[in-house]
Amino acid sequence: MSKIEPTNPQAEADRGRVALWVAPDDLAWLARHCCCPDDATEEVKERCGRIRFRAGAALHKSGHAS
Ligand SMILES: [Zn+2]
Repeated sequence: MSKIEPTNPQAEADRGRVALWVAPDDLAWLARHCCCPDDATEEVKERCGRIRFRAGAALHKSGHAS
């Protein structure tokens, strides 16, 4: 498993990212959930994968990963 760097709030803000507060069970759902249709574009699939990956990483960092 890859090491997850601690979040640096300023570095994230510099990338234009914003914080999102989510309950762990919602985060777990988000990490697993893909509702891309079969004909989704690569852009949509990449965005979905990126969001689910970050949800999973956040879940691990929070110590709530199962
Ligand atoms: Zn998807």
